Amino acid sequence: MERAEIDAVVIGAGVIGLACARRLAMAGIETLILEAESDIGTGVSARNSEVIHAGIYYPTGSLKARLCVEGRRKLYEYCEAHGVAFKRVGKLVVATDETQIPAMRKLMAQARVNGVDDLLEISGEEARRLEPALSCVAAFHSPSTGIVGAHDLMLSLLGEAEAHGAALARQSPVLRGYLEDDGRVTLEVGGASPMLLTARLLVNAASLGAQAIAHGIAGFPAAHIPPLYYAKGNYFSFSGRSPFSRLIYPMPEAAGLGVHLTLDLGGQARFGPDVEWVDRPNYDVDPRRGDVFYAAIRGYWPSLRDGALEPAYAGIRPKLQAPGAPGADFRIDGPERHGMTGQVHLFGIESPGLTSSLAIADEVWKQLQGNAEP
Ligand SMILES: Cc1cc2nc3c(=O)[nH]c(=O)nc-3n(C[C@H](O)[C@H](O)[C@H](O)COP(=O)(O)OP(=O)(O)OC[C@H]3O[C@@H](n4cnc5c(N)ncnc54)[C@H](O)[C@@H]3O)c2cc1C
Repeated sequence: MERAEIDAVVIGAGVIGLACARRLAMAGIETLILEAESDIGTGVSARNSEVIHAGIYYPTGSLKARLCVEGRRKLYEYCEAHGVAFKRVGKLVVATDETQIPAMRKLMAQARVNGVDDLLEISGEEARRLEPALSCVAAFHSPSTGIVGAHDLMLSLLGEAEAHGAALARQSPVLRGYLEDDGRVTLEVGGASPMLLTARLLVNAASLGAQAIAHGIAGFPAAHIPPLYYAKGNYFSFSGRSPFSRLIYPMPEAAGLGVHLTLDLGGQARFGPDVEWVDRPNYDVDPRRGDVFYAAIRGYWPSLRDGALEPAYAGIRPKLQAPGAPGADFRIDGPERHGMTGQVHLFGIESPGLTSSLAIADEVWKQLQGNAEP
């Protein structure tokens, strides 16, 4: 089998792996991205809401809170500078009855602690002036929430990484790995051109495959590999003109943000994602779930017509918590956690991972830096 050596390997060409590869390449590190599929961005990064989140929901001091707020700023700057399609459409988070108002204000207070200082509470009437089809008793407006073309972003990140010398190997699944005596890691790569690849630095950004990769590296401490649960999020599309010009979110639920309305860059509306715990990834959308969607959406949009929703697509959240358990934070695990020099493993990069991608890449780089002199 062919053998090769390189400074750094990034496993996974989703938005996180591509952002990390760009960061490493821009620091002068010779970087190879290994992607199992035949193209970039066919995993979680292709199946989400494409929302640039403001940073409202996440617990104080969590990586999600910090990296979402930092990542959002970086992402807007990046999109502007690189011509990546985005729109700062804003969103309304709505209380559909009086009992939800205290929880709505609690969310606003949490957002302020997280550094989101541009929220504005408005009455139901003011909300209807902005969005005449909306039914709610109160709401808050988040002007810094937006939408981004995720694929456009990934192409741009790859382009910049390549411009700084990084390379992408498609159809190159990482099968297993082991440590060399000098601490470097050797990966066995299958697929189109099987090889053994030895690297000084390793970023595991394989998302739904991240735990399997960590388990496959001989000597990686199993106690530091979190469990993985799959929370599918189903979407339904709405044919016809969108009734709203901003994103509309109900109050969040246990493992998701509630069945909300998002817009794509063409202004088309879609609803979702819901939360369906599954044993293994599958992307079928059961049309019967539509009943729950109609009920949830009519809470804030009563005039939704029967038959207006169509099953669209689904994504899988890589959850670290079991159904019913409290929400977990991102895990960006460097050597000080697992003891493997030069390795960073990312686990549980669910929402707001797309928003946070550039900040996550900076964090990964920070963790590697002790070992990363070019
Ligand atoms: C339903 C849903 C809605 C979401 N909405 C939003 C949102 O609105 N805003 C937001 O900020 N975030 C959102 N997110 C989160 C966001 O989509 C993710 O955090 C982000 O896309 C994760 O990117 P990734 O690169 O980690 O994963 P992926 O895009 O899945 O990339 C991982 C890559 O690794 C590859 N891979 C796996 N195993 C191997 C292997 N052994 N060898 C080589 N390659 C391998 C896969 O093929 C894949 O291409 C949402 C997520 C979901 C599920």
